[in-house]
Amino acid sequence: MRGRLQKLGRVRLVCVITILAIILASAGNLLISALFNFQTSFFEDIFRASIIPIFLAPLLSWHLVGMFYQLDILENEMSRLAKVDDLTSVCNRRFFYKQIEDWLGTKLNRDTEYAFFVLDMDVFKGINDRYGHLCGDKVLEQFAEVLREKAPNGSIIGRLGGEEFAIFVPNMDADSAEMLAENICQRTRDIVVKHNNISVSFSVSIGASININYHKSTIENAFKYADLALYEAKESGRDCYRLSIAEEKS
Ligand code: GH3
Ligand code: MG
Ligand code: MG
Repeated sequence: MRGRLQKLGRVRLVCVITILAIILASAGNLLISALFNFQTSFFEDIFRASIIPIFLAPLLSWHLVGMFYQLDILENEMSRLAKVDDLTSVCNRRFFYKQIEDWLGTKLNRDTEYAFFVLDMDVFKGINDRYGHLCGDKVLEQFAEVLREKAPNGSIIGRLGGEEFAIFVPNMDADSAEMLAENICQRTRDIVVKHNNISVSFSVSIGASININYHKSTIENAFKYADLALYEAKESGRDCYRLSIAEEKS
């Protein structure tokens, strides 16, 4: 019902309300004439009954229908902001983990392999300090674009906070995870962000873990091992990835 009203548009919805008001007023008038046996003709009844709704209905409903559409836009924006990070348009932290928990809890996905990546921009504080916060924001936007471009269909991409992102990829093995991490590092290296006529390059370090969705397993372990791998990548000089395979640890 709501979807249909949205499709109709403001002008057409006001016309529909006006026509309905005329029909209801005319029907009411005819009923009253019949009940009290007024000596008026059918067309006279309809004509009299239509005059007020023809003027009043569009006047009143134009404003109300406008408010309805405004509310609808606001509601859509609010539900978008509850899920999406405003700057980069990837999932915000809460929605990212919510979707993962839903996937892990689905029976069909039991014992399925998945990859979890933690991605941290290198010396990002330096970019902010040297070129300004706005330039840092541009870098984050461009980097999120890389993630959208490279992550396979079905992946969930999230911004965990600051310059730290994560990707959850269902049904991904170690070889594919290495390929994806290498691809992201490479593509990030090639990007040049223009800011105040200065070309800014940047890089990312990635920690990845390959995991199996055992019964009642949570994302915590996957995150822990990906984070340890990220630490190794940073320690190895940044601009690279490291992989950790959960099975090797049990
Ligand atoms: P490392 O290679 O070890 O990760 O160094 P780093 O400088 O990237 O890490 P550090 O944690 O020291 O700095 C992160 C910086 O990210 C500090 C903070 O100001 C910046 N930052 C966090 N969120 C935002 C944001 O939304 N926009 C911008 N421009 N900067 C942000
Ligand atoms: Mg960093
Ligand atoms: Mg960080």
